[in-house]
Amino acid sequence: MESHIAIFPTPGMGHLIPLVEFAKKLVQKHNFMVNFIIPKFPTDGPLSNAPKSFFENLTPRIDYVVLPPANLDDLSEDVKIETRIGLTIAHSLSSLRDAVKSLISTKKFVAFVVDLFGTDAFGVANEFKIPPYIFFPSTAMCLSLFLNLSKLDESVSCEYRDMSEKVRIPGCMPIHGSDLLQPVQDRKNDAYKWVLHQSKRYRMAEGIVLNSFKELEPGTIEYLQEPETGKPSVYCIGPLIRMGSESENNEESACSKWLDEQPSGSVLYICFGSVGTLSHEQITEIAFGLEMSEQRFLWVLRSPSNTTANATYFSIQNSCDPLAYLPQGFLDRNKGRGLVVPSWAPQAQILSHGSTGGFLSHCGWNSTLESVVNGVPLIAWPLYAEQRMNTVMLTEDMKVALRPKFNDNGLVTRFEIVKIVKTLMEGEEGKEIQSRMRDLKDAAAKVLSDNGSSTKSLAEMVTKWKSESNVFSN
Ligand code: UDP
Repeated sequence: MESHIAIFPTPGMGHLIPLVEFAKKLVQKHNFMVNFIIPKFPTDGPLSNAPKSFFENLTPRIDYVVLPPANLDDLSEDVKIETRIGLTIAHSLSSLRDAVKSLISTKKFVAFVVDLFGTDAFGVANEFKIPPYIFFPSTAMCLSLFLNLSKLDESVSCEYRDMSEKVRIPGCMPIHGSDLLQPVQDRKNDAYKWVLHQSKRYRMAEGIVLNSFKELEPGTIEYLQEPETGKPSVYCIGPLIRMGSESENNEESACSKWLDEQPSGSVLYICFGSVGTLSHEQITEIAFGLEMSEQRFLWVLRSPSNTTANATYFSIQNSCDPLAYLPQGFLDRNKGRGLVVPSWAPQAQILSHGSTGGFLSHCGWNSTLESVVNGVPLIAWPLYAEQRMNTVMLTEDMKVALRPKFNDNGLVTRFEIVKIVKTLMEGEEGKEIQSRMRDLKDAAAKVLSDNGSSTKSLAEMVTKWKSESNVFSN
């Protein structure tokens, strides 16, 4: 009987993308079959169709089922995303159980993989005697925080952002409490309780798959791999990213075609992840800043949110045309030098194109890894989730990114944009940053080669799965 892996992702494209890449590796390199079991928000907007189109073009060895939407009728609008995800998972457990029961009647599962907020599904995995694993789609630094959050919670009584000293996460450079991930910024909020609840369950995993590699976060990964009672084995298999070589649709080839016409390394790519939005005022400042900088740019523009910097996540996207928020005449004045793409662009293709020389990013971990693999230096503009932690690491530790300054009104002005864009694309500091990014690109290629550490780490985990499957036979 063929061996299967069950994958239970938490909702969100940023979660699904690396998990699908992980599944492809398991199929191509280790000949597994993979079954995604996907929970669904009750109010899923257009993005909920994304899994469908996403899975359509994949090998039949990767299959998926979507669970019925969780019933969260009594939730108020302002509930944070981590709470929404936590409740969606909790309310999907009984349909998850039914799905696994049905799949397991004809298939042999050797591992049950959840991602960062899915540990409540461990009970179902254990019930069916499938070893539970976590796929952690973020940094080693963030994983170290998760594994040690309950200790931090016990030892600190105030909000982390009010601590007089920096927070010491094992294996990491000290970091200001205000730079920790967003849901731990308000300890009274349910979102914090959900993160704490998840993090306490991390040590129940048989192992943790980490989308990072040693050359990127040496000290932290060394700490994570030190044997310690109750700490699961950590397998560093990154950088696992979507590559830009897959077949192109119209919108994708329009971007490639435009990039083909630009000089090598001349274009600044601007994108705030799959869901990041900015205020109208901030969009205006970026537009004038780009125009004044006289640099080439490719900008993925989303309609503004009501708050200064926010994530719309899966809420229904504003149907307004994002281009309507640009200053009058902007598109005409910048024709030829800049391309603005509404809402979504083929980022993997753009970052791997030779004309792309810089990336203004919200520093989500997938975007960061995509930049590393392609050797593209960054301007780091964090918005939500753990992006401030990523930014501290990228600017202060690895020194592969510049960070713009915000004014007292929480805006990055057009003058700051001009300065930072020119520094990255033309200045000496930009060249140094680019050279360090190229070193990371080389290191990334090496760890992914046949004898590289990430390839070996994945093989080691697969060997464990196969041997465990004899013990946990279902
Ligand atoms: N992405 C894309 N086109 C876009 C915006 C995002 O292809 O216009 C992809 C991007 O390449 C990355 C993912 O969506 O793989 C975003 O993940 P990340 O962790 O960077 O940010 P998140 O969206 O989770 O905040």
